[in-house]
Amino acid sequence: MQVVTTRAELRRARATLPESVGVVPTMGYLHAGHVALVARARRESRSAIVTVFVNPTQFGPNEDLARYPRDIEGDRRLCLDAGVDLLYVPAVEEVYRPGFATTVDVGPVARRWEGERRPGHFVGVATVVTKLLNMTRADRAYFGEKDFQQLQVVRRLVADLDLSTEIIGCPTVREPDGLALSSRNVYLTPAERPRASAIYRGLTAASAAAAGGERDTARLRAAIEAPLHAADFRIDYVAIVDPVTLEPLDPVDRPARALVAARLGAVRLIDNIALEPPR
Ligand code: AMP
Repeated sequence: MQVVTTRAELRRARATLPESVGVVPTMGYLHAGHVALVARARRESRSAIVTVFVNPTQFGPNEDLARYPRDIEGDRRLCLDAGVDLLYVPAVEEVYRPGFATTVDVGPVARRWEGERRPGHFVGVATVVTKLLNMTRADRAYFGEKDFQQLQVVRRLVADLDLSTEIIGCPTVREPDGLALSSRNVYLTPAERPRASAIYRGLTAASAAAAGGERDTARLRAAIEAPLHAADFRIDYVAIVDPVTLEPLDPVDRPARALVAARLGAVRLIDNIALEPPR
């Protein structure tokens, strides 16, 4: 596995890789969710690149940039074990050079939900993803459904800007109790950790209700919110939306997505699930 930190090194190393190339963009502190993306990349491409970059421009002023968990040695080992060919770990100055001024604003799909609660977040995400796809010149890029709005934002930007990378969404990897793996789960206290599975209980309840013919958005949202209230979450939003535009959907008479953001103590968690009404 080659490990590089500059764009020049990346370009040289990229030229040695057998085609085709898959990339998994990450912010590091890698876990089994990231490894699943790498495994998929390796199945579908001859070479796999992982990028580790905690992108400052996607964090708001009151967010956790400074304390975002980092463990580059652990990440390196995990990538080596997963069969990654090239690990790119640029410094902030390497990605944002003096005079940097251009940003990517993806429009309505980035406005609601996370976009509303985290102003500037998706401009940061869209800009850095555009840059990483250009720097790595990957044929395919792998993103988790865990960050469902991010996945739709990336699909939109790649279509709109005529980028040639194919975007592949991958299912969310979960703990045995259903909690979606996340680098931020380390912030949960031992007392909070078991309560965190309430999100998945709510989502699966809504998914089962929708599959059973429930079309009423308010009742589907209530099914998600009940276990969250019981576990003392503070809810940011619970939304039932069109899976491409992320506009609210009512009634749920076609495939939809349920989105949740909620806080447990100091930790903000997001998750989502597919809703498939009977035909
Ligand atoms: P992050 O390092 O959190 O920015 O995530 C990097 C990529 O891994 C994103 O495409 C995430 O959606 C994806 N990812 C994070 N957690 C999971 C998970 N539990 N299952 C699948 N993919 C994930």
